[in-house]
Amino acid sequence: MSEYETVIGLEIHAELDTESKVFCSCSTRFGAPPNSQTCPVCLGFPGVLPVLNKEVVELSLRAAVAFNCRIARYNVFERKNYFYPDLPKAYQISQKALPLGAEGWVEIEVAGRTKKVRLVDVHMEEDTGKSVHGLDAGWEDKSLIDFNRAGVPLLEIVSQPDMRSVEEAEAYMNETRAILLFLGVSDCRMEQGSLRFEASCSMRPVGSTELGSRVEIKNLNSFRAVTHSLRAELKRQRAVLESGGVVAQETMLWNEEKERTEPMRSKETSSDYRYFPEPDLVPVEITPEWIDRVRSELPELPLRRRQRFRDEFHLSPEAATKLTATRATADFFQKAVELYPHPTPIANWIIGDFTALLNDDRLPLEQAKVTPRHLTDMLKLVDEGVISGKQAKEVFAEVYATGKAPADIVQERGMKQVSDEAALSRLLDDVIAAHPKAVADLKGGNRKTRGFFVGQVMKATKGQANPQLVNKLLTEKLEL
Ligand code: ZN
Ligand code: MN
Repeated sequence: MSEYETVIGLEIHAELDTESKVFCSCSTRFGAPPNSQTCPVCLGFPGVLPVLNKEVVELSLRAAVAFNCRIARYNVFERKNYFYPDLPKAYQISQKALPLGAEGWVEIEVAGRTKKVRLVDVHMEEDTGKSVHGLDAGWEDKSLIDFNRAGVPLLEIVSQPDMRSVEEAEAYMNETRAILLFLGVSDCRMEQGSLRFEASCSMRPVGSTELGSRVEIKNLNSFRAVTHSLRAELKRQRAVLESGGVVAQETMLWNEEKERTEPMRSKETSSDYRYFPEPDLVPVEITPEWIDRVRSELPELPLRRRQRFRDEFHLSPEAATKLTATRATADFFQKAVELYPHPTPIANWIIGDFTALLNDDRLPLEQAKVTPRHLTDMLKLVDEGVISGKQAKEVFAEVYATGKAPADIVQERGMKQVSDEAALSRLLDDVIAAHPKAVADLKGGNRKTRGFFVGQVMKATKGQANPQLVNKLLTEKLEL
């Protein structure tokens, strides 16, 4: 039996982070009462005219440049015609023959190896409304439509079938999401539908250069849905091929509950969209100056930043990945290291206590009260022996809750670490005198007993003794 290789391509729809919709001034805010953010334009009334939101072109161009695309000088919008209840005009304004960005690529990293996933194109379009079905919404046999989403700007990113494993597909989604977040192009909130996916996959004998018949999986709303549906679908295709069958070219839906892909009804898959140029919109000219300006404003992208964090600050690949998950996190780390050049403890605090507190509150880092200076001031207090590592956890939690300066918290709580050598020496003398057996143990080579002595002194000082100093005194007194 021949070995098979996997071929995967992905289409990503990202909602752009604009205040208003693409062809009218309705708000794009998520979660408003149904149909409260609509007007004759986005409801598709006859006789109204769309007016293009310039911010949509600006954000889309930023993404297309970051994805290394060739930019179309003249951008033409087209009508993609089809009937569906959530599409009030019976056509979607999109781009087809002259997309904003053509070709281009996304560089991904899998198991320490980099690879370019090529793009077919990057184009602008409008979102549709949303059907709300009775059983989901608490009424019985009806489906109603919320048009708040109709006309929200979308960026569609179409990849070549360049991914050879589900892991590569996952890396591609992660990298694309990180880039969109770094660019401020989309908030990428999957739970709000800001990022949606369609996957296509096929299998072919290893060494073959022809593509097998491709199966599309539609309406995937999370990374998990993509990876799980691909694994299930590829398993199905492998079984068909290994039993000598032929995989039919078809469109499937992912059944999350049953963990399997299921064929879509045929009337939902007809794809004669009769594209033609949108007569109500003029072509958008993108000048070389506009492209140059956008290019000059691009931030360092996540992959480069991750590689630089690893090389420059000797961070582990895992730490570098976590610190570059969002631009705010990467900027926070970078700023902190500039203030106090100790990357490892800074990374550990951000990935550890800080992230845990943010996760508990479901708060994005940029909205936290902690500043890079707070963190580095606190680390200095630890390094200077003013507070212990244990006290630092308490201080950090209070900085996080109140935004107060670490030095003020230490002052207010009277938590200064006792580094008075004479006082600690007296306390340690008392502990040694009271525990002759432990002294004998420690002198006999039981190193664990050391912790007992430090613990006793900590107890006597309510956790404020400087443990390094107590350890040093212990070594001197018992001539260890
Ligand atoms: Zn509107
Ligand atoms: Mn689309």
